Amino acid sequence: MKSIFEKIIDRELSAEIIYEDGLVISIKDINPISPQHFLVIPKKKYKNIQAVSNNDIHIFSHLFSVIQKIVIQENLNEKGYRVVINNGEYGGQTIDHLHIHIIGGRALRWPPG
Ligand code: AMP
Repeated sequence: MKSIFEKIIDRELSAEIIYEDGLVISIKDINPISPQHFLVIPKKKYKNIQAVSNNDIHIFSHLFSVIQKIVIQENLNEKGYRVVINNGEYGGQTIDHLHIHIIGGRALRWPPG
C-alpha cells in the first residue's frame, strides 16, 4: 500500500511542494508546529532509518545537502532551525516512510517532550 508521501510524490494527493529533485521531495507540513515546518522525504520508501541498506546509504548525504539548500531558500539560515527524525514507536513516528522535519521560525525549547 502506498504511503501518504508516495501519494503526494505521485500527485494523487496535493501538497505544497517547496523542493523536488530525482531522489527527494520537500513539502510544507500540513499541521505545522512552528511558523516554518517542512518535511524532506526520499522518493524511495524506507520505513525508517534502519531500513536504508548500505547500497542506498548515499540517500542520507543527499537529504542533508537538500536541507542545506532549503534553509537558504526559506531564509532559515541566519536564525537557526531544528532537524528532526521521529523514528519508530518511541520516537513518535506516525508515517512509516522515512522523512526529516525542518522546524523553524521561532525559538524552540529543549528537551522535547
Ligand atoms: P511523523 O510524526 O514524524 O511521522 O511526522 C509525520 C508528519 O507528516 C506530521 O508532522 C504530519 O503533520 C505530516 N503530514 C501528514 N499528512 C500530511 C500531508 N498530507 N501533507 C503534509 N504533511 C502531512
